[in-house]
Amino acid sequence: MEYYVAQQVKDAWGDKQCDHPHLEKEYYTGAFLINFVCSQCGMEFTIAQKLEMDEVRKIKADKL
Ligand SMILES: [Zn+2]
Repeated sequence: MEYYVAQQVKDAWGDKQCDHPHLEKEYYTGAFLINFVCSQCGMEFTIAQKLEMDEVRKIKADKL
């Protein structure tokens, strides 16, 4: 998802609750990878935050 699209998604989503079901790589001018962004709410995550979230979800999944 491009940076400006993420901003539009973020504006459209507003302050609603989101559990960030799907993170996409975020690009700037089609070339540079910056961060990950939630395709539902447009919130940005660093790569470290994404890895941490994956880890937490894996732990939760193992407990189920
Ligand atoms: Zn989200």
